[in-house]
Amino acid sequence: MLFDTHTHVNFAAFKDDRDEVIKRALAENTWLINVGTQADTSKTAVDLAAKYPEGVYAAIGLHPVHTWQQMLDEEESHFKTREEHFDTTLYQSMITDKVVAVGECGLDYFRLREDNKEKAIELQKQAFVAQINFAKKHKLSLVVHCRDAYDDLLEVLKSEYAGMPAVIHSFTDTWETAKKFLDQGYYIALNGILTFDKSGRLAEVVKSAPFDRILTETDAPYLTPPPHRGKRNEPAYVRYVAIKIAEIKGLDTEEVMKQTFENACRLFNIKAF
Ligand SMILES: [Zn+2]
Repeated sequence: MLFDTHTHVNFAAFKDDRDEVIKRALAENTWLINVGTQADTSKTAVDLAAKYPEGVYAAIGLHPVHTWQQMLDEEESHFKTREEHFDTTLYQSMITDKVVAVGECGLDYFRLREDNKEKAIELQKQAFVAQINFAKKHKLSLVVHCRDAYDDLLEVLKSEYAGMPAVIHSFTDTWETAKKFLDQGYYIALNGILTFDKSGRLAEVVKSAPFDRILTETDAPYLTPPPHRGKRNEPAYVRYVAIKIAEIKGLDTEEVMKQTFENACRLFNIKAF
């Protein structure tokens, strides 16, 4: 068994073939959590989870880039993020027994505009704390996104969410930083970046991190690992991440799949069998 703990089959990139993509993953013994980034993508994740008796779950939340309207330049094309505030009543109405986490929430300081940086950071922190309290109230785990903000993130988690269940998704920083989060009891999730990271930084994280605190994910449709690089990513490709972890840790791929699957079930309170 494998677990893609962070994927976005709920995104528009999959609008024409969501069920085919999910069935391909399930056929390869891969379970998955579709992660919301706003109210509408969260709702789509919940609806998708409801269609399958097991193996498909949802996380509901508000991504930090959507807490403040900003212009982003992704792959040469400008797009505007949609601003939203974390509406607890609305998100509460989405909770079902298939909703296993709150997120993705967190802090993202990448490419913040100088003229409104302070305001943006303030709004991000507000939304993050609101979601932390929501997760506590509903006894859900937290799926945390972080970009260029690890110090602030750790500070907020330590003061608002000490000892509670969380994963730092798409971890990309050093072992030194990883250790700080692991010491707090949080999990670290790795994706396709591990398969093409030439710095060796993430390999060091994988080598040093306790085996029972590592999760696998794809963050599909993004971050496609080889041999599919350049194409749309999908949950079934999470096996390339497990293969890489096995290679780095010097373990059997089967063993990595089993352990990371168990880790995911433990963190997200999922009864597998
Ligand atoms: Zn994501």
